[in-house]
Amino acid sequence: MQELSGKRALVTGGSRGIGEAIALALAEKGADVAITYDRSADRAAQVVDAIKTKGRRAAAIKADSADPAAIQHSVDEAARVLGGLDILVNNAGIARYNTIADFAVEDIDALLAVNVRGPVLASKAAIPHLTGGGRIINIGSAGADRIVGAPGTVYYMTKSALQSLTRGLAQELGPRDITVNLVQPGSTNTDMNPEGGESADYQRSLIPLGRFGQPEDVAAAVAFLATPAARQITGTILNVDGGALT
Ligand code: NDP
Repeated sequence: MQELSGKRALVTGGSRGIGEAIALALAEKGADVAITYDRSADRAAQVVDAIKTKGRRAAAIKADSADPAAIQHSVDEAARVLGGLDILVNNAGIARYNTIADFAVEDIDALLAVNVRGPVLASKAAIPHLTGGGRIINIGSAGADRIVGAPGTVYYMTKSALQSLTRGLAQELGPRDITVNLVQPGSTNTDMNPEGGESADYQRSLIPLGRFGQPEDVAAAVAFLATPAARQITGTILNVDGGALT
């Protein structure tokens, strides 16, 4: 019997990067997994195939995390296809960088819509489906606690909002035995932040372990928080950052 056998999970932004790794890690532990995607339909289909190869049920649902109706539909659809919902992972996110002086209003709105309103609305949509033992796991950023380059200010600000969302939701849902936690990745090798990218050496210089994380490193933390063994952990922040915040 695997730790997540019989559990049903939805991972937003599961078509690539950290979300893909989370979806696969949950399936590896026995969960059935739906993912959302926006632009990467082919990648999403590959993730579904990989989950099915593990013998789990899987679905990919197109849903722009900036669109409230699409979010509501994706959560209800995931619960319908999987026969319920036990785990929500709010992973979908975008990064846009600029100085505050030059930040375009539409970029600020896009960051707030996807990175802040998206997780709030996905959680709101998931709450009626979740029962005792349920999990909401948000994906923030170590940058919420340490600004790495001023042009990241607005992006990091959206991630610090998830700290309050996590703590408040943990209080709201605790009486129903539903835990809510925040995983904060540090520099992690994905399309968003490749380990061979322009600022990668600078980022590595800030990390005591001296290396980028891989998506699987973040996924391992998320998968643990999803298991019954983590039932007493709620409202907490788990950094997966190679020690960057020490
Ligand atoms: P990627 O850019 O590599 O992947 C982003 C994922 O989110 C894709 O699956 C993408 O789907 C999805 N996504 C983006 N916008 C939307 C949208 N509007 N609606 C639905 N899905 C969307 O990013 P990472 O994997 O690196 O990041 C995952 C999370 O981790 C994000 O929240 C990010 O902020 C956070 N993070 C990442 C760090 C890093 O160093 N990589 C560090 C700290 C935090 P599609 O391609 O289908 O549009």
